[in-house]
Order: sequence, then structure tokens, then C-alpha cells
Amino acid sequence: MRAKLSTAALAIIAIVATMSAAAARTTRDVRGEIVEVAGREVSCANVRTRFDGSLPNLGAAAPDERLTILNPRLLGRYSKVVQLFVFHHECGHHRVGASELNADCWAVGEGVRAGWLDRNGLTQVCRSFGNEADTDTHPSGRSRCANIDRCFAAAEFEVARAKEKQRYRVEAVALSEAPKLVAGPRLIRTSVLR
Ligand SMILES: [Zn+2]
Repeated sequence: MRAKLSTAALAIIAIVATMSAAAARTTRDVRGEIVEVAGREVSCANVRTRFDGSLPNLGAAAPDERLTILNPRLLGRYSKVVQLFVFHHECGHHRVGASELNADCWAVGEGVRAGWLDRNGLTQVCRSFGNEADTDTHPSGRSRCANIDRCFAAAEFEVARAKEKQRYRVEAVALSEAPKLVAGPRLIRTSVLR
């Protein structure tokens, strides 16, 4: 027989629904605006993204404005993984400051954790730096490549360690559930404790 929901139960459902709506709003604000880059939905927490075809670079970050600007026209000349890298590199400036190497490293970490960056993608990113020597704003392509190589290895190690930890946690949970006794204990032989 189906029971009718009491008024009290309905009231509780209404409260829970309101609470989860508020939680969703907060989550969206923290996550940042969701934009599509290279066919993938991405976001940078607390940062808005604007697309501007007149920007002289692939991307730029304005941390004071909590704003990332991307040039879709220039980005379109690169592979998807490079486009995603640029988005996350700019997001990295919002997270770790003005250092190009640190922003690169942050982007690599995000790529490895999210699964869009593998060794092949890393080579494409390195190639996109070009053979440029050091400038006032950017380190040489060579040092940026060496840096992202190190960051990639470190991120892969972290991900592997996190997976291992997760595996142990799952096993620990499985073990904590008391095993069911298949058969009753049976005396095999008596012995003397020495
Ligand atoms: Zn940069």
C-alpha cells in the first residue's frame, strides 16, 4: 500500500530542495564561469573568461579583475590540447602569480589530473612555445619545455599516489565490514601452549 506523504515530510523535502539549490549556486560561484575551450567545458574558480579576437596574444590574465581573456582566432591555429593548456596557463596566473614557469606548471598539473594532458600533448605544448630565447616577459622555449617535463613527472607521480591511497581506502572499508562466517569453527586438534 502506498502511504501518502505527510505535511511534515513535504515541508522537510521543501527545505532540503531549497538548501541544495543554494549549494548549487555557491558551487557555481566558486567554480567560476564555465566556458567551452576545444570542445571541453572548463572553468577557473572565481574567474570570468572573455573571448577577444583583437588580443595580440593567445591569452592574457588580469588577476585584479579576476578576468582571463582568450583570443579564439589565434587559439584556433593550435591543437585542442594546446588550447586547453593556454586556458589553464592563464588560470594558473590567477592561482600562482605572474611567474610563467609556475603558471605552466599549474596548468600541467590540472591537465594530468583532469586527464586531457598526456606525453603526446606535452610535446605539442612544448612545440607551441617555439624556439624563442628569453624575453622580458617569457623565459625561453627550452626552459619552459624542461619545466613542464618536470611538472608532468611530478603530477603523474601525485596522481598515481592518490590512486594508490584510494585503493587502500577501498580495501580498508571492505575489510572493516565483518566477514560472514561460511562454516562454523571446527576443532582440528588440541595442543599445549608452551
Ligand atoms: Zn603567462
